[in-house]
Amino acid sequence: MKYRHLGKTGIRVSELSFGSWVTFHNQADVDLALNMMSAAYDAGVNFFDNAEVYAGGKSEQVMGDALKKLKWRRGSYLVSTKFYWGLNDGINEKNTLNRKRLIEGINGSLERLQLDYVDLIYCHRPDATTPIEETVWAMHNIIEWGKALYWGTSEWAASEIIEAIQIAERYHLHKPVVEQPQYNMFERKRMEGDYVRFYKEYGYGSTTWSPLASGLLSGKYQGGIPKDSRGALKGYDWLKDSLTNKEKLAKVTTLEPIAKELGCTLSQLALAWCLKNPFVSTVITGASRVEQVHENMKAADVVDKITAEIMEKIDVIFEVKKEEEDD
Ligand code: NDP
Repeated sequence: MKYRHLGKTGIRVSELSFGSWVTFHNQADVDLALNMMSAAYDAGVNFFDNAEVYAGGKSEQVMGDALKKLKWRRGSYLVSTKFYWGLNDGINEKNTLNRKRLIEGINGSLERLQLDYVDLIYCHRPDATTPIEETVWAMHNIIEWGKALYWGTSEWAASEIIEAIQIAERYHLHKPVVEQPQYNMFERKRMEGDYVRFYKEYGYGSTTWSPLASGLLSGKYQGGIPKDSRGALKGYDWLKDSLTNKEKLAKVTTLEPIAKELGCTLSQLALAWCLKNPFVSTVITGASRVEQVHENMKAADVVDKITAEIMEKIDVIFEVKKEEEDD
């Protein structure tokens, strides 16, 4: 496993990391979560991603229980959580980045994770109703109190991130240092478009999500939705259109000879492809079983085999035009 700096911070993250969205509590109890985390850690993963809202707080509980049993040295791994949607319907408690909510949020997360601090906290989405200045101050205070070490954004517009950085610079506060955007062969606009300028100018890091487009890029949906897959889970019906989209499935089929040529699986190709982007600090992987973790971790060995010619072939399959890249 190789490690990359999280943007221009001093912290280094494993190129592949591991997250708990959908899986922890819904598909994985504490024992399975522990075994998957262990498989990832043994492969060199040092970053575990979570969020307050995942499984209504239960995902943090599961990760906290697993970490307690694993007894890893705290210095050897990083844990993150995120705030925005909240856990309750109160007027000040949902879809917000107000100061009260963020501070109550971190206290609740630390309790569920059974940790003294988390390494990274994210604003899970932008909040147009709270001044960015209020959010920047709250995140700064959480860091000053030692409850988190770094903070970042997730799916914020480039202009909002730049505003947050500039506010922090103006008042000498802790700046946001990392964005968490979706990035996979189907979803590239922000990572390869809007964000490039400020990655270069501000040295912002990125921890990218859904590298397999929820499993679509593994090839498992080519024959319909398998019963034991994310696409068959209750509450995730909104994913079905994408997972059964004929055009998307045809593109996945076209990737098969490339994976064959490289001697890897489709999942490994899709994960390694994300790592070819130099602005990616870490690709957050997800899994519902230990075997998937073993398979996915081997993607780190495929990265150097993907030549510029193969990258171009993939761009042709996904109909990426040069003009779009230059936007
Ligand atoms: P992926 O797109 O990689 O999907 C992971 C899912 O694909 C697994 O749970 C599993 O689902 C299936 N899968 C994984 N590996 C394989 C394999 N080798 N073969 C076949 N199927 C496989 O990532 P996620 O969507 O899970 O996102 C990763 C992480 O990113 C999350 O855990 C979370 O931490 C973060 N995230 C952040 C978001 C944000 O807004 N900031 C939003 C979403 C995610 P199954 O077996 O059930 O089919």
